[in-house]
Amino acid sequence: MTTYRTHYSTELGLDNLGESVTLAGWVVRPRDHGGVVFFELRDMSGLMQVVVDPSEFPEAEGLRMESCISVTGTVQARPDGMENLDLETGEIDLAATELNVLSVADVLPFMVDDRTESDEVVRLQYRYLDLRRPRMAANLRARSQAIRAIRDTLNDLGFLDVETPTLINSTPEGARDFLVPARMRPGHFYALPQSPQLLKQLLMISGVDRYYQIARCYRDEDQRSDRQIEFTQLDMEGAFWDEEGVWATIEQVVAAVVERLRGVSVEVPLPRLSYTDAMIRYGTDKPDIRFGMEITNLSDVFVGTDFRGFAAVLDDGGTVRGINLGRHEMSRSQLDALVDRAKELGAAGLVWIAINEDGSFRSPVAKFFSDRETKGIVETLSASPGDVLAIVADSQRVVGAVLGEIRLDVGKPKDNDELSFVWVTDFPVFEQTEDGGLVPSHHPFTAPADVDEMRTAPTEATSRAYDLVLNGSELGSGSVRIHDPAIQAEVFEILGIGGDEAHSRFGWFLDALRFGTPPHAGFAIGIDRFVALLQNEKSIREVIPFPKTQTGADPLTTAPTLVADDQLRDVGIDLRPEVKAALAEAESTQAGDRAETLEGSDD
Ligand code: ASP
Repeated sequence: MTTYRTHYSTELGLDNLGESVTLAGWVVRPRDHGGVVFFELRDMSGLMQVVVDPSEFPEAEGLRMESCISVTGTVQARPDGMENLDLETGEIDLAATELNVLSVADVLPFMVDDRTESDEVVRLQYRYLDLRRPRMAANLRARSQAIRAIRDTLNDLGFLDVETPTLINSTPEGARDFLVPARMRPGHFYALPQSPQLLKQLLMISGVDRYYQIARCYRDEDQRSDRQIEFTQLDMEGAFWDEEGVWATIEQVVAAVVERLRGVSVEVPLPRLSYTDAMIRYGTDKPDIRFGMEITNLSDVFVGTDFRGFAAVLDDGGTVRGINLGRHEMSRSQLDALVDRAKELGAAGLVWIAINEDGSFRSPVAKFFSDRETKGIVETLSASPGDVLAIVADSQRVVGAVLGEIRLDVGKPKDNDELSFVWVTDFPVFEQTEDGGLVPSHHPFTAPADVDEMRTAPTEATSRAYDLVLNGSELGSGSVRIHDPAIQAEVFEILGIGGDEAHSRFGWFLDALRFGTPPHAGFAIGIDRFVALLQNEKSIREVIPFPKTQTGADPLTTAPTLVADDQLRDVGIDLRPEVKAALAEAESTQAGDRAETLEGSDD
């Protein structure tokens, strides 16, 4: 038997001086210091400096970075003054007595370290190298720990971990389905689950009282910033409980994850905010409550104002609101940039006011405000000398959207060292689309708070849906579900999925609801986002082992790829003429490019 290793690097320290140990890993930064070769060996635990005498091991001289090796050596203290306190093993190193190059690494596409920033597509193409970087390895470990904390908590609470299939019928969550052709029934398709929503509801009908799953979900949507078409969520559901049961459980789960990854405790119960309050005070249903700068209503201050811009908006039923951006030294051009930003976000304009040290206003429109208005602004926005105020007049929706973004631009902390969770509750049942239609604001299986209200005023009706928000990011959503088939059918009806269509798409589910469905409720947390926030990563791609690019491509495996004609034939598919034409054109352009490159290389 070959002993590749006896220890991991970071298991060793001054206690092991003089011991002979064997480590295995990869070569980092080999350097030749005239007669002595140094390098660090990286393994799963960290780094260990290795010292080699090239007269004994000539192969040490040509050692290539990232080659895979096993080294036996004696643990020795580093000479005085040569310690590296940044390194866990910085007080010792290993004097090699045996060196085994197990596999040589080719020329590297980028430096495998945390200091070098390289192009993300290249990183993804060589993800196996990218994942060797300590930061990425730490992210993988954190992810594994987070999932373990979730499982521990829910298993202790008596939840059952149940797997649900990925080749199913459509489960709508507002995105497009990924379709998989069914070879055994040509012309028919499976849909990959946008979530296990309907399956977990079926489990409640089945008597599985408490369910969870670390579930892979698939949503074929355009890649808005920081989403993945394929992602992982903690999916959970419980019978015979309501909002409070779900919230208390999820609070335990998130507290356990934070404790495991950050070593701090989360104070529960978490704060709650209704959707309406969130929209009014923060202009978003994902409020970042780590900082104040709340949006404040100034309409009362401007009743009967002579300032035309505001008067016209108020006459039209709009609103005037503002935020105190706090003490800032802002130049005129920085202040004017706020106006440009507001316009970019859809407002007609923005009024800025910088409060001078003597309390007077510096603002292009200050002269239009009466004394009463000036005083009203100062009092309502609790303004002090040095503060910068931003005021927008428009419809409530536009004012909220604009000031909500400006609030984030100015106030959002750069890191996630502080964690602020908040439940956002009482979402509307429906949202109105641009063409006046209705779509569910959560999903169509969410219970309305009041069925009569949903019938008579669907656009105003409140649902029993809730979100969990962390530092301004939506961490997860859930709801109390409809368990009465008649009400479920009514919701489909209101959504314009009438009798026959409802029957053909969801008949199987409506049938299931007719067999003694318990009241039930649940939730799902996006694990990728949660881990990214806790690891202070800007993008969820940093905590997903093999993520896709914004266009849904995988530069490593080159997916998605073309398939052979006979594979298509097997599943009864013929590509549409326009698709074939586009492919042929792409092919000829590529052939042209290749020819040009070849010609170029002739010179
Ligand atoms: N199925 C929902 C989602 O994936 C979560 C839930 O309602 O439990 O967002």
